[in-house]
Amino acid sequence: MTKVVAIDGPAGAGKSTLAQAVAEHLGLERLDTGAMYRAVAWNALDHGIDVRDTAAVGEMARCLRIEVGDRVTVDGKDVTGGIRTAAVDRAVSAVAANPEVRDTLVARQRQWVAERGAGVVEGRDIGTVVLPGADLKVYLTAGTGERARRRATERGDGRSVAEVETDLERRDRLDSSRAVSPLVMPEDVADDAVVIDSTGKSADVVLREVLACL
Ligand code: C5P
Repeated sequence: MTKVVAIDGPAGAGKSTLAQAVAEHLGLERLDTGAMYRAVAWNALDHGIDVRDTAAVGEMARCLRIEVGDRVTVDGKDVTGGIRTAAVDRAVSAVAANPEVRDTLVARQRQWVAERGAGVVEGRDIGTVVLPGADLKVYLTAGTGERARRRATERGDGRSVAEVETDLERRDRLDSSRAVSPLVMPEDVADDAVVIDSTGKSADVVLREVLACL
């Protein structure tokens, strides 16, 4: 029986939609690890902490209570909408490149799975670093133009597709070039991961492709 599913891939590839569908299908809970990095970035901005100050941000992340479920809270405050803003989009890659932040969040992500013995976990380094022993590893990707169109529609925050595309490309570049746990490119994905390109495919078609791997 498949108990632990890892879903990795670049921004806007459709990971959250897929993770939700797979979790429902298997009757498992889902963890959005990107929301955890976003929560730390949100808190740094809220407290006026420079996101490049690795020591200050690392210390802050260690003490921060983050709950990620249907709602996202930071020290009890609901930040579900607040973590999906352009300001957090801009700040989050610096936070995610911070080794202390990663140590803290990776430990919490592993603990989340250990407590449940199962789950669908999405992010950038789940199959490679966080849960290398996952029962199923999916690397989901899509063309940049399509990812930007999906994100711009989903957010509806007035940013044009071109602006969103520039941000996605910048984030992918930072996420894949950082020293610790970089986002890997499809050609370098772990041998045991299934690579799915969701360009031009509906969420249902992608779900069926994943379920066929179970
Ligand atoms: O998935 P999402 O776009 O919400 O993730 C926000 C950011 O969090 C990513 O751009 C990346 O910098 C970081 N992230 C990460 N490792 C993860 C999940 C997200 O570095 N496992």
